[in-house]
Amino acid sequence: MTPKLSGNQIRQTFIDFFVERGHTAVPSMSLVPGGDSTLLFTNSGMVQFKDVFLGKDRKPYTRAVDSQKCMRVAGKHNDLEDVGRDDTHHTFFEMLGNWSFGDYYKKEAIAWSWQLLTEVWKLPKDRIYATCFKDDQGDIPQDDEAADAWRNQPGFDPDHVLFFGRKDNFWQMAETGPCGPCSEIHLDRGEEFDNLRGKPHRCGVNGECTRFLELWNNVFIQYNRFEDGRLEPLPAKHVDTGMGFERIVAVLQGVDSNYKTDIFAGVLEVLRGLTGHSEAQMLADFTPYRVIADHVRSAAFLIADGVVPGNAGRNYVTRMLIRRAARFGTKIGLHEPFLARAAEAVIAQYGDFYSELQKSRASILDYLTREEVRFARTLETGTAHLESLLLNLDARVLDGHDAFELYATYGLPFEISRDIAREHDLDVDEKGFVEAREEHSKASGGGKAMGKLGGEDSEYFAGILKDLQAKGKLGKDGVEYDPYNSLRVEGEVLALVVDGVSKETAELDDQVEVILPKTGFYIEAGGQVNDTGFIRRLSSPSGGDGWEIEVSAMRRPAAGVITHVGTVISGRPKVGDKAAAEVDAARRHDIMRNHTATHLLHKALQETLGDQAKQAGSLVAPTHLRFDFNHPVAMTPEQVERVERMVNEAVAADLLVQKETKSLDEAKKEGAMALFGEKYGETVRTISIMEDNHDKYSYELCGGTHLERTSDVGAFVIVSEGSVAANVRRIEAVTGRGAYRLMAQRNKALNQAASALKVAVDEVPAKVEDLQDEVSELKKELAELRARQALAAFDLQLSNVQTVKDVHVLAVDIPDSNAEALRMLADKFREKYPVGGAVVLSTGNILAGGSTVIAVVTEDLVKRGIKAGDLIASLGGKGGGRPNMAQGSLPREQIREAFSKLAKALSEKLK
Ligand SMILES: [Zn+2]
Ligand SMILES: [Zn+2]
Repeated sequence: MTPKLSGNQIRQTFIDFFVERGHTAVPSMSLVPGGDSTLLFTNSGMVQFKDVFLGKDRKPYTRAVDSQKCMRVAGKHNDLEDVGRDDTHHTFFEMLGNWSFGDYYKKEAIAWSWQLLTEVWKLPKDRIYATCFKDDQGDIPQDDEAADAWRNQPGFDPDHVLFFGRKDNFWQMAETGPCGPCSEIHLDRGEEFDNLRGKPHRCGVNGECTRFLELWNNVFIQYNRFEDGRLEPLPAKHVDTGMGFERIVAVLQGVDSNYKTDIFAGVLEVLRGLTGHSEAQMLADFTPYRVIADHVRSAAFLIADGVVPGNAGRNYVTRMLIRRAARFGTKIGLHEPFLARAAEAVIAQYGDFYSELQKSRASILDYLTREEVRFARTLETGTAHLESLLLNLDARVLDGHDAFELYATYGLPFEISRDIAREHDLDVDEKGFVEAREEHSKASGGGKAMGKLGGEDSEYFAGILKDLQAKGKLGKDGVEYDPYNSLRVEGEVLALVVDGVSKETAELDDQVEVILPKTGFYIEAGGQVNDTGFIRRLSSPSGGDGWEIEVSAMRRPAAGVITHVGTVISGRPKVGDKAAAEVDAARRHDIMRNHTATHLLHKALQETLGDQAKQAGSLVAPTHLRFDFNHPVAMTPEQVERVERMVNEAVAADLLVQKETKSLDEAKKEGAMALFGEKYGETVRTISIMEDNHDKYSYELCGGTHLERTSDVGAFVIVSEGSVAANVRRIEAVTGRGAYRLMAQRNKALNQAASALKVAVDEVPAKVEDLQDEVSELKKELAELRARQALAAFDLQLSNVQTVKDVHVLAVDIPDSNAEALRMLADKFREKYPVGGAVVLSTGNILAGGSTVIAVVTEDLVKRGIKAGDLIASLGGKGGGRPNMAQGSLPREQIREAFSKLAKALSEKLK
């Protein structure tokens, strides 16, 4: 027997096999799909090349091979419920693929599949089946080209070609767009792998059991589908293949579970080391192990791609995965944080191929443990609450709003509530949960819905481009884009699109998209906003009136097409007119200051907080810059000050900002910082900020526009540092003119304060401190004075004591006092009238509305049946207390009238 290949070797043989056949090995794109707002996560190998198939992007190669990181945990492709329950589902997985962009086609793709599977990997030829497309609706031609290619493979059993219909063997990206037949490769693993052996079932390819496994899908993109359902052959045909990595490893290693391959061996061993279980014990209760192994792998890859645990969107998924893994840990006796230990094994298994895991090791381990500790604090109370809800449930399904409350209060993710409910044979209403979460996020001002898929009009603009190319007005690359060298470009108006329709002329006030042969306007990317400016007609010898378009935005509706979006503010622009497009230079200069400062800020943050302070989002606008970064806690005032000082020192050092173009590979090898969520081409622009000794102070991949030297930033002032989401902080800052405006404003306020305080500006803080001391001293004095005043007023009132029968009665209101002072006065009254005395005192002020009322009677009156609380009640107030002293309240405006009734009320009680 040949020795088994390891998982890492299997991945490498796949890549090597296709590299030997002229393919370029392309690195996996991030789990966060750059430039695709419709997807939560990269969920297939196709995502990276979608724009190539749609004609919106070109690559310098026509053959590619890769292993793509994928996540399926939400939305249409959601495998979470099955993860852990069986041996084949994962939240994170790898997809191996080979790709042809208008290069080779079915014959080569099928021959290479056959060679790799049977010659390199030595799978038995007689156990391989191939499915091909035969339309069950009879419209699309049967794929005989693929079927014949299969029958021609040496050693392939021609009877093993099987035909299936649209559901199994026709692939499309969406309702419209590129599509085509596919050919799946299935393997008969033999009876011993049949989970339904002995039971009657549909046993075969696309059957019901586990004996026949789909290994690999070859998709042949050959049509374009239009809205009316019509299919048209594509001029360039593509191949897109996908093979689940974990599955092929299980097959080649001869095991019946993906979790029994060497890919998971390391992490399971760590877990068994912690639980003390033997392998047999582990396999007897395999589910918790599978869940933990899967989730910790996903969490590690997510954090490495910048998706740290948090409350919403992608970040919620990371949080949920970590918490779910931690809870399954408790099922096998793991109560202390253990996921960092498990993640070490994941990094050891994958770190060579996916170096981002190595680079982010510290933050992966740190975030995992932090999240586990946080969750452990609430897990028990949260679970107890859930259990009591479930016990008292009238129905079989827990209300989704209740499940959301559990998340909001105890951090119990929906998925965990559902796990627990299902352990009791109950369920949780997912729709209700999502509704409650959306209501909540709307109420808290967050929760932007995902934007709709762009490119609805890309076909239309691609048509315009083709026309212009045919007329020789544009070259093969379309509109020339150069925002770096010139702010003013002259050229002929090639097209005017008004309301989505190409026109010969545009009218005053029309919203118009203008296509010129070349533009110097920057198109929003990497956080830097669009340029704005004007397009004006150049005076022409043939006469004609001038016109002007104010450009407010830029757009790239199709590959090779750039439009200036604006409004006609004078004249009638016409196709064919000569015009000059001019960027608003002052605004652009402000933007460049903020962009170069953003790079300096990024550097200063990493120096101050550590490498894990990675960019998580950025806005570069003319007025200010905004920078989000991963950091678990608020920065201290000292850290903020240090970052601001470092940036300003780099500004003052007048460093050179060097722009270069090079291959992505080279830039990455040199250590250029690539930004998370950003999509890069093969050739990239790099921005280096150079120190005098020619070292790079900062080095980033960046397509933005930058200053020549850092001193041009002028000044850099941090306006705020705050939290945007769990573990993500945000800094807002201003530069240049914005910094001047801010400082001038603050200066003015400070000058006004100084002049009001009658001191020099430098003395303001000391003076304010003095004043604060003085104020608190005065407050104390005032309180004492008030007490003395109340006493004096009361002394005066003592002369107004009435006599009702043999009882001395007094009712006094003392404004702006308090209950304590009233009690003190009541004691004074009792000193003077130790026998036969009753007093009612009130205080309050008209603004606060109510009055505090205190009533006191002497002991002998209590014995005669006169209680303090009864006195308050007889005045129409509410209150309680002891028989000889009670406190209550009365509306302020009723005090005077109530007091006038006191003598009468008392005399009635004394009868
Ligand atoms: Zn079977
Ligand atoms: Zn940049």
